[in-house]
This record gives sequence, structure tokens and C-alpha cells, in this order.
Amino acid sequence: MNTVVQSAGVLAFEDAYEVVRERCQQIFKVGDRPSEEVLLMQALGRVLAEPITADRDFPPFPRATRDGFAVRADDLARGITLLRVVGQVRAGDSYDLPLASGEAVEIMTGAAVPAGADAVVMVEYTERKTQEVNHKGHEGTQRESENRESIADDDHILEIAGRVESEVEEKRTEDLVEVQRTVASAENVVPAGAEAHAGQELLSRGVRLGPAQIALAAAAGKASVKVYRKPKVAILSTGDELVEVAEKPGPSQIRNSNSYSLAALVAECGGEPVQLPIAPDEESKLTELIHEGLKADMLLLSGGVSMGKFDLVEQALKNLGAKFFFTGALIQPGKPVVFGEVGAVPFFGLPGNPVSVMVTFELFARQMVEALSGAEPERMKSAKAKLRKDFKTKTGLTRFLPARLEGGLEDPEVEVVPWQGSGDMLAAARANCYLVVPPDREKLAKGEMVTVVMR
Ligand code: AMP
Ligand code: MG
Repeated sequence: MNTVVQSAGVLAFEDAYEVVRERCQQIFKVGDRPSEEVLLMQALGRVLAEPITADRDFPPFPRATRDGFAVRADDLARGITLLRVVGQVRAGDSYDLPLASGEAVEIMTGAAVPAGADAVVMVEYTERKTQEVNHKGHEGTQRESENRESIADDDHILEIAGRVESEVEEKRTEDLVEVQRTVASAENVVPAGAEAHAGQELLSRGVRLGPAQIALAAAAGKASVKVYRKPKVAILSTGDELVEVAEKPGPSQIRNSNSYSLAALVAECGGEPVQLPIAPDEESKLTELIHEGLKADMLLLSGGVSMGKFDLVEQALKNLGAKFFFTGALIQPGKPVVFGEVGAVPFFGLPGNPVSVMVTFELFARQMVEALSGAEPERMKSAKAKLRKDFKTKTGLTRFLPARLEGGLEDPEVEVVPWQGSGDMLAAARANCYLVVPPDREKLAKGEMVTVVMR
């Protein structure tokens, strides 16, 4: 091993994690990345290269949040509980006259609350009533229909009746609503602009577009968005025992599955995987293929980083002038993991065992792909769950073991998936998270709350 490699050393998990994180932050802050315009439907998982601003107020009008009646809260506070229903407004409609005292407008969720009204009474707290009004000449008289208790606003009803100045006697039915509760002003109404004002930033540059962000962009009228180009991530699997997936392996050969798990992981976090041909455990050919891989924005190597006679990856990297930040982490699986840069291109040498490769990608490489895609690198997502069975191990390493998290919102439980060690791909495929065992713990007891890392 060369001196640079030796001085970089083997770090505790937290230290290795922070080294990568710090470098990711620096790379993220460089900014100035190439961008492209894509249709909103193609933008899922992409990172915004320019902010999205509100083209109008959000919401654009005072929005009813309940089905019911738009009212003047003050009417109810003053004891006026029987209101005249002067109209109906459904989502997409408007009621254009200002609401006067004693009046209510039937309103549906999502509709614009009319001017003059300042609250919505939920339909559950109301009862529709009708009232027959007799018109004789100029004088309006009222006769209540069945169940009529009182007319809340006599003056108002008289005034309404008076409006219809008919010489002919006629009976008319008035639409009323009895309100059984008072409401506070602004209750069940989201004022115009309460979420954002026109011109305000809704989503900033560097935000990754998930379903909620795509909804917001759509609401702001963005049929297409400017996003950063995906970073190219070269993937180079090394090992004389490897054959390509379509080939028939000899008795002691295995198929190159790591190039696929890594490509899938890269694609999942917003990178563009570039799979290189398998590299043999031979220094000059390996160096040549690494050189090829360094044309991408980042390089992931699989295998060849242990202490074996044919583990030549570090030497080949050194031939190309690599700088090493660490050459191992006190973790299991994945202890021989290597992190460094050649020029401005970051690389990770991941141990070849199929589970190790996935765990070390998750712990270290994911945040680098994120940083290169222009998104602020996020910390690992973890959760707490109750351990289902006792678990014994040795101290000294932070372990990330394939596990299954199950159960509902209230009491998630986790169990380690039985496995044959870090070569066991079946265990990895059965798992949905990694159980974290701190380096100072020999035993985790059934029922204990433990940490899991989500994947
Ligand atoms: P290495 O890290 O090169 O010592 O490899 C460790 C183990 O992982 C060996 O059993 C390899 O056969 C296996 N391995 C290495 N590379 C790959 C790969 N690309 N796909 C599947 N298994 C691999
Ligand atoms: Mg190997």
C-alpha cells in the first residue's frame, strides 16, 4: 500500500460519514451546473435549476374549506340565527353581490367566499327552512311554515317582502337557514394569499421534485420546468471471476450483479448510471478502465479494495494521482470502503460483496450523487422500531444489517433477516431497511427500541 493510502486510514463510521458529508456540501455549493427544460410530467425526481414563483395569490380567492353557508360571523354573534339564503356558490362559481347582514350563501368546499361574508358555517350545524310570504298590495306579511320558531331578523324579512311591490296577492317561498352555532370570523375560510402572494417563491433552486412539489409547480402553471442535468455516474465492477449477466458462467464464475444494483441505486437518487465493461484484476487494464470512468462526474468501483493479493483498485487509482480521504470504515458489512478524488472527480471503491456494495452506497455514495445533481444533500433517513428478537454480535464495528420493518404507525417492529453474510443477495432482497447496531453493543434485547436506516 502507498503512503497516501496509509495516512488516509480507517475511520469510525461517524467520522467517515462526516468526511463524505463535508465534501458533498462543498460540491453542492459550487453550483453553476448545466440545466435543461423538461416537461413537468418528466420532472419527477429531478432538481430545480431555477425557482418557481407564484403567478397569482395562493389561494387566489378566499377559499371555503367546508360545505356549508357563507355568513357574517357578526350576525350570529348578535343572535341572528335565521338567515335568508340568497344564493349558492359551488367550486368554480362566484357570487357577485356583497353579502348583507341577515343573509347567507350556500357554499361548497373549494368555492370562493363572497365579499361581505367572513366565515363558513359547516352544513352539519344548520337546518334549511322555508317560509311562505304573502304579498298584499304594498304590504308584505309573513306566515311561518311548520317548525318555524321565530323570525330572527324581523326588520330584514319585512324589508325583503317590501322589495316585491306587487298589486296582486301572491305567495312566495323564502329560503332560510337556521344556524345552530356561532362561528369565529375567518372560520373555515383560507384568505386569498394566505399560502403565498403573487410573485413569492414557492420552490427554490435545488429542490428535488417529488409529487407534492410537482403539484405546486402545476398549480403555478408550469407545464415545463428547468432542472439540472443528471450527473453521469460511471460504474466499474472489478474481478476475474465475473461474467456479464447474459453470459453463461463457468463453474467458479459469478455474474456481475453489482453493476446492476449500483445502476439502480444511482438512477433512484437522480444520477445517470454509465456501466463500464468488467475490469480484470490486472493493474494496467484496470487503470485504463478507471481512466475511462473518470470522464464521468463520479466513479463507483466495486470489488478489489480488500487486502488480498489481487485487490488492485487502490494501486490503480494511485497510478492516476488519486487523493484518498479514507481507505476503510469501522462498519459491517463494507469495512474496506474507499473514498477519494482524482482531480475534481469523486470516487468510491466499494467492497465487492453484493450486500456490502449496497450498504456502502447507501451510507456514503448516495449523498454524493445527490450533491452532484444539484440538490442539498440530505442526512440519512432513520427511524426507531421495536426489536422483535434478541440479537447478539461482537463489539468494535457499527453494523448495518439487512432487516425487515413491519407494523403500523403505532408500533413498528424490526427483525434482522437471517443471512449467510455479506454475499447473501437473497437476504438483501428480503430486507426493507438496515438495522443499526452501535459499535459498543454486544447484545440488543427483544423489545428494545432500535434505529433502522430506511432504503
Ligand atoms: P472483492 O471485494 O473483490 O474481494 O469481492 C468480494 C466478493 O464479492 C467476492 O465473493 C466476489 O465474487 C463478489 N463480487 C465482487 N464483485 C462482484 C460483482 N460485480 N457482482 C457480484 N458479486 C461480486
Ligand atoms: Mg475481487
